[in-house]
Amino acid sequence: MEKRRIYMDYSATTPVKKEVVETMMPYLTDYFGNASSFHSFGREAKEALDKSRSQVASLINANPNEIYFTAGGTESDNWAIEGVAFAHKNKGNHIITSKIEHHGVLHPCEYLEKHHGFEVTYLDVDSEGRVDLEQLKKSIKDTTILITIMFANNEIGTIQPIKEIAEIAKEHKIIFHTDAVQAAGNINIDVKDLGVDLMSMSSHKIYGPKGIGALYIKRGTKLHTFVHGGAQERKRRAGTENIPAIVGYGKAAEMAKANMDNHIETLTKLRTKLIDGILERIPHTRVNGSLTHRLPGNVNFGFEFIEGEGILLLLDMLGIAASSGSACTSGSLDPSHVLMAIGLPHELAHGSLRLSIGDFTTEEDIDYIIDNLPRVIERLRSMSPLYETYVREQGQLNK
Ligand SMILES: *Cc1c(COP(=O)(O)O)cnc(C)c1O
Repeated sequence: MEKRRIYMDYSATTPVKKEVVETMMPYLTDYFGNASSFHSFGREAKEALDKSRSQVASLINANPNEIYFTAGGTESDNWAIEGVAFAHKNKGNHIITSKIEHHGVLHPCEYLEKHHGFEVTYLDVDSEGRVDLEQLKKSIKDTTILITIMFANNEIGTIQPIKEIAEIAKEHKIIFHTDAVQAAGNINIDVKDLGVDLMSMSSHKIYGPKGIGALYIKRGTKLHTFVHGGAQERKRRAGTENIPAIVGYGKAAEMAKANMDNHIETLTKLRTKLIDGILERIPHTRVNGSLTHRLPGNVNFGFEFIEGEGILLLLDMLGIAASSGSACTSGSLDPSHVLMAIGLPHELAHGSLRLSIGDFTTEEDIDYIIDNLPRVIERLRSMSPLYETYVREQGQLNK
C-alpha cells in the first residue's frame, strides 16, 4: 500500500487547482505574446490580462483599474509600505504596524527605520492576537503617514477589526494598508465597504501559481513606484507581465469567489472537528489565537512540555505535513514572534503546531490526525524532562 500523505500546510502554500492549470496552459504555448505588442499576439495577451484583472478585482469588490499585478504578497507589502513612506515623507516619518505582522511587512518597516530615518510603532496584541484600537488611537502622531495592519494572521489565523482600523485611519487622514494574503480568497472581503486604501494579495495561497500577486490601490492613493522600467501596469509596476501566472491567478480568484460560502462552511466544520477531537484526547493543550475571529482553515495548538520540531518530525513520518507556525521562521531556534506577542511563555511558544486545512482536506484526513496525534504527543512527553518533573510534582501533591 502506498504510504498515506496528508497535506495540512495550506497556509504555507496550496496546490494549483486542475482548472487553473488548464486555463494557464495555452498562454505558455499558443498565446505567448507580449501584452505590450501591437499585433494580434499582443492583443490576445492583453485581453487575457484585462480579464484576469477583472477576476481579481471582483474577489474583493474593487474596480479593475485599482488592481496592480506584482510578483506576490511580499512584493505587494514592500511596495505599499516603501511606496507610501517615500511619497509622503514631507508630511511625516511615522508608521504604525503590529508585532504580529508577516516578515514581508516587518522587514520593510525595519529597513525604513534603519536606513531612511522613519520611526515605527509596533502595536501589542491581546492574548487572542487582536490589536487594541485604543492603543492604536493613542499611537497616532501628527507625523503618522501610514498604518499597516494585517487582515488575518498566517500563524494563528486571527482576523483583525479591519473596518474599525480603516475608520480611525480615515479620521486622521492616514493611509491604511492591510496584508490580506491569508484573507483574500478565504473569507469575504469588500474593499469599498471596509474603506482600506491598499491591500496585498497573493495567488499561491488560494490555489493559483506561485510568484504572482496583486496590490489593490484605491483610486487617488499616492505612492511611489517600486519596480522601475517599462510602462506596464499603467506605469506603476514595470516588467513584462507574466501572463500565464496572471491568467492562473485570475481563474483561482474566480473559483475562490464562486466557492466562497461552501469553502467557509466546509473548512470551519473540519476545523471544529479537529479542535474538539484533539482537546478531548490530549491534556495540557491549548488553542492559540481567537476562536471567534479566525480564518476558516487555521488550527494552532500549544502542547505543554514538548518542542514543535519533534512533533513535526514524527508527524512527517506518519505522512502528515504540518508546520510549527511560519515557514519563514523554521530553521531558526527562536520562538515565533507571533506566539511571543500573544504572551505565551517560551516553553509553550516552542511547543506549537499549525495544522492548516484547505479545499482538498477530507473528514478522513481529520480522523487520521485525531487518531494519531495523541500517540505522537504522548511519546514526546514520555521523553520530556519537563513532563517528568510535572508528573513527579503532581504525585507528591496527591500523596
Ligand atoms: C504568504 C504570506 C505572504 C507572502 O506572500 P508571497 O506571495 O509568498 O510572497 C505575506 N503575508 C502573509 C500574511 C502571508 O501569509
